[in-house]
Amino acid sequence: MIYFDKVTKRYGDTAALEDVTLSVAPKEFLSIVGHSGAGKTTLLKLLLAEERPTDGSVFFESVDINDLPNSALHHYRRKIGTVFQDFRLIPNKTAYENIAFAMEAAGRDDAEIASDVPYILELVNLADKARHFPDQLSGGEKQRIAIGRAIINQPDLIIADEPTGNLDPINAFEIVEIFKKINELGTTVMLTTHNKGVVDAIGGRVVTIDRGRLVRDDVGGEYIL
Ligand code: ADP
Repeated sequence: MIYFDKVTKRYGDTAALEDVTLSVAPKEFLSIVGHSGAGKTTLLKLLLAEERPTDGSVFFESVDINDLPNSALHHYRRKIGTVFQDFRLIPNKTAYENIAFAMEAAGRDDAEIASDVPYILELVNLADKARHFPDQLSGGEKQRIAIGRAIINQPDLIIADEPTGNLDPINAFEIVEIFKKINELGTTVMLTTHNKGVVDAIGGRVVTIDRGRLVRDDVGGEYIL
């Protein structure tokens, strides 16, 4: 369970978020929509403990993440997989190596890497592109590597900040399908977008943020701005 309790985040005079209360249940798929500058990224940064609220608290599995000592943050963030608009892949490593490298960095041994990477590549429909480098892949394929990398630690939650922002509609739809599959396997997904087609394809709960305020929370998957 994720709970934002009356969260305000100010940067100087700018209120990036204002009095936001939001709960997200385990295994939920939540779309967060809003214009550029509405506060979507700020919401995700607070959840990753990259920023601290000015007021209010953010809870993850009943723990106020602002109470976590720095030494515990690393472990906390391992529960969360992240995907960004700009993919953030290592250019001189193949699809396989990008995922394997992240597993190595997470302390996994060679046997685990050898057994898990092919499974992950299969899950993101990239088994046939394992030896391709990022610049030999389409935007959608690059994003699928990034999603594969985000799930190596079997996270409880995936945070995706505008994951389809650089993709055409067909690739965007493929990415949505993969997030849906991962969600069906039991992972909570929180995704920001300003693409109506993406929201409609997800078809789940939609939270709308406008100038820092949570202005709508629709279970039916409506996109209204
Ligand atoms: P979104 O992701 O919806 O585009 P953001 O959360 O990035 O919106 O930004 C919300 C508001 O907070 C914007 O007005 C933005 O300019 C401001 N903001 C975000 N990060 C910072 C920062 N590090 N310093 C100052 N202002 C910021």
